[in-house]
Amino acid sequence: MTIALSPKPLRVAIVGAGPGGLAATIQLSRLKDVELSVFDQARELREVGAGISLNENTWRLLQDLGAADKLEQFVQRGVQGKLLVEHRNGRTGELLAQRHHSGDPNKPPAVRIERYKLQNALLSQVPSGLIQLSKKLVGIRESVDGTALEFADASTNGPFDLVVGADGIRSVVRQHAFPEHKLTYTGKVAYRVLIPQEQVAHLLPDLPHASCFWHTRDTHIYTNVLDNGLFEIATRAVESEEHCNKVSWGQTVPREQVVPHYQNYCPLLRKVIAAPDSWLEFAMFGGPRLDSVTHHGHIVLIGDASHPLSGAFGSGAAFAFEDAYALKHAVDFARSRGQNLGYALELFDIVRAPRYRELYGVLDTFAFNVADIKAQKPDIDDDEYVAETTERNWQQAEGRGFIYGYNIANAWAKLEAVEEDKLRKFVPDPAVSLVAA
Ligand SMILES: Cc1cc2nc3c(=O)[nH]c(=O)nc-3n(C[C@H](O)[C@H](O)[C@H](O)COP(=O)(O)OP(=O)(O)OC[C@H]3O[C@@H](n4cnc5c(N)ncnc54)[C@H](O)[C@@H]3O)c2cc1C
Repeated sequence: MTIALSPKPLRVAIVGAGPGGLAATIQLSRLKDVELSVFDQARELREVGAGISLNENTWRLLQDLGAADKLEQFVQRGVQGKLLVEHRNGRTGELLAQRHHSGDPNKPPAVRIERYKLQNALLSQVPSGLIQLSKKLVGIRESVDGTALEFADASTNGPFDLVVGADGIRSVVRQHAFPEHKLTYTGKVAYRVLIPQEQVAHLLPDLPHASCFWHTRDTHIYTNVLDNGLFEIATRAVESEEHCNKVSWGQTVPREQVVPHYQNYCPLLRKVIAAPDSWLEFAMFGGPRLDSVTHHGHIVLIGDASHPLSGAFGSGAAFAFEDAYALKHAVDFARSRGQNLGYALELFDIVRAPRYRELYGVLDTFAFNVADIKAQKPDIDDDEYVAETTERNWQQAEGRGFIYGYNIANAWAKLEAVEEDKLRKFVPDPAVSLVAA
């Protein structure tokens, strides 16, 4: 009689049920012999903030996650020639750059939707009852048996074979694995709001019916007329370090706190800013790139926990989806070839590190542009400065289709082919061994 040995289930904990954690939950729940536990500190899963952009890479991954159909109802395809995005001088209103929709009905449209819609679409694909709420991670204990998680309610869960840190920008998992990694305040806060279009009905005829960035030297205002009767405003403002220490993520603040920041804008934009009664305030933090986001072969970071890009490309959810895709495929590949988890996480680093290196490279170029313009033209006036930074950043970002056109499936397939080849070469060919014997 032969007894079939079933492979040992892989015990996986995902910490955080934001876009990254939900995507990882969907991806890893598709693997055989995986026991998944998902924890989030929130009492209920509720999205704060306002709109979120879905670009080509986001759609591709939403399709893979099975969540795209739930969102298609909110978007229009094939809107050829429709304005997609504009950049304007916030002080004068002058148009600096613009782009239109491609109009290709087969290409996913770039759209802006409310964040809760994205969250609901993802949640619809998560096996019910899997997410444990009110579980705030406070500590991690590693031992030979695996990794145990300690929560603020004094409970401990585990041990786990793999811990996925999807716990956002202030990741406790990252603090444990990379204590030397520090976040810094960018010097800016974001004020964001979604209001009914009726509140700005008298201003709409003069506003672009598309995403529009209105720039001044130190701040910008983003406006967008959404398809569903809502109007979105998202801004950046300079605030002191002292002020930012008092700001919690998504704190409600009155109109009076926001309006003074935008007195140098044209009358139309000043009226836009005065329309909402209250706003949500977010202090913007960022952190340096990590070459590796894996630790001891059993902890991995994804999404904002891995790379705090401070919302720089408006596509952090998509980057987190890419991470989740890569993680699932790396774990699957390693297990199906009898390799260990450490090898899977190495592959994860190999496929993800170049992507984040390129993204951080774009931020370095933007910072260089600012420094270079200031050095070349120390007396440049505000309008010229805005025109020149916008032109340089826009041209460079436009030339970098990889930001939103990136395809993680292609990157993974390339790596898989290389690894497959390497593994094949390492396995002794039985026929050759026999001859040699
Ligand atoms: C101003 C701004 C605008 C943005 N606009 C866009 C946009 O248009 N498009 C886009 O794609 N992205 C945008 N982003 C980025 C996007 O919001 C993030 O990149 C994305 O949410 C990252 O997802 P995540 O799952 O990694 O982290 P998060 O969304 O931060 O989720 C982390 C989860 O972990 C939980 N958690 C945190 N700590 C603990 C703990 N100790 N224990 C247990 N659970 C914990 C939290 O409750 C949360 O549910 C923007 C970001 C900012 C700041």
